[in-house]
Amino acid sequence: MALFKLEKKAPRGPAGKWDVVVAEDMCKACGFCLNVCPVDVFAWRKTPNRLGWFPMIVAKEQNCIGCMLCYQICPDFCIDVAVKQVGGLN
Ligand code: SF4
Ligand code: SF4
Repeated sequence: MALFKLEKKAPRGPAGKWDVVVAEDMCKACGFCLNVCPVDVFAWRKTPNRLGWFPMIVAKEQNCIGCMLCYQICPDFCIDVAVKQVGGLN
């Protein structure tokens, strides 16, 4: 995943067209993304990661509107948001 993206804002689109990825093993469970997301995409994992934190998971990816707030606020660069690749392997 890219550490920095040149565009600060992705075009906000209809829900359902965004891939949201959290690098769960890098997450320190600060909760910033959970609090900033306007459409409740994130939730806590019930098992700890290798750092010993209970990290964030992508619980409702279908809600995502691509606002990129989570991508911008995560202090540990754990989150990536991108337009879904239709017909791709991912
Ligand atoms: S891009 Fe916006 S809507 Fe999508 S998960 Fe991040 S904060 Fe939520
Ligand atoms: S903002 Fe980043 S480090 Fe904080 S809970 Fe979310 S994914 Fe984890």
